[in-house]
Amino acid sequence: MEAQNGSWVHEITYLRISVTDKCNMKCSYCRPLNIDYIPHRELLSYEEIRDVVSIMKDFGLKKVRITGGEPLLRPQIWNLISLLKAQSLESISMTTNGTYLKEYGKLLKDAGLDTINISLDTLSQDKFKHITKTDIKPVLDGIYEASSLGFNIKLNTVLIRNFNDDEVIPLVEFAKDVNARIRFIELMPVGKLDFFNKSKIVYNHQVYELLEKTYGKLIALAPDGSKSAKRFLIESINTEVGFISPMSSPFCDGCSKLRLTPEGTLMYCLRTNSGINIKKLIREEGIEAFKNMMPEIIRQKNLSNEYIINNDYNFLDCNRAMTSIGG
Ligand code: SAM
Repeated sequence: MEAQNGSWVHEITYLRISVTDKCNMKCSYCRPLNIDYIPHRELLSYEEIRDVVSIMKDFGLKKVRITGGEPLLRPQIWNLISLLKAQSLESISMTTNGTYLKEYGKLLKDAGLDTINISLDTLSQDKFKHITKTDIKPVLDGIYEASSLGFNIKLNTVLIRNFNDDEVIPLVEFAKDVNARIRFIELMPVGKLDFFNKSKIVYNHQVYELLEKTYGKLIALAPDGSKSAKRFLIESINTEVGFISPMSSPFCDGCSKLRLTPEGTLMYCLRTNSGINIKKLIREEGIEAFKNMMPEIIRQKNLSNEYIINNDYNFLDCNRAMTSIGG
């Protein structure tokens, strides 16, 4: 069966692996204030994750991203990176809030981590505290450490109307100073949190216009990674900016990305609740059963893409918070 729009995918190229739902931050747009954490025994082990990745490589997997919750809260996460490094993937990256990078950056580098995405929505201590309920200093220290270790760094920024949308230029300048790229991510209604309100979304075309007004014409670059970011070079400061626009310009057509939740569900998308519990499959029937299931998983991923496209890219029935899916 082929999708009517011809965008049927035949392989899964990108996997986002969430290793924990725990986080030291309590970002208002990401998680409810009080949540019950998944017990450790319910989490996929590093060896189970490695086996899943190894099977998926036979079905097109090229890139993985480790995320959470806060992935640096999972003990000795560098051991997982070493296991994945041995799989000869095109890239292994991590999304982190940066708090523990000063402490663990070198271990991550030595284990073979290629790229780090560090979330940073503001440079103001007060606003940082307001949104995350923690201090900004360890995060800035972590960014400097990652920069001095020579990591390929991307800063992830979620803009919120009338909160941090006046910081676009300072954040871009900060990215330049630490030799990082910056990604502006549109606020999404994931997890149906009270915080979300459409009026808080800052659409990326507005950010683009502000950047062109400030720096002159942006130069379009070819897509990379999961192809979710539209990338541009700000030539005058030699800094790359990316726009991830799930609200104004969804990228579901031809999407070949899956998410693995900490407790072992493969999810097709943030916009729906659908997924398949592969931990149960692996623990009860073995990793071969997962291999045999992969063609069906790819078929389901395509059906999920179609379902979302046919429903105007709405965030339909996904009521899990971002922190427990893996952002
Ligand atoms: N703890 C890590 C961190 O802070 O980067 C990784 C997990 S966090 C869920 C991953 C990314 O998801 C962060 O960059 C965060 O800003 C983004 N995110 C969380 N909730 C979001 C939402 N409702 N809309 C857009 N981005 C969101």
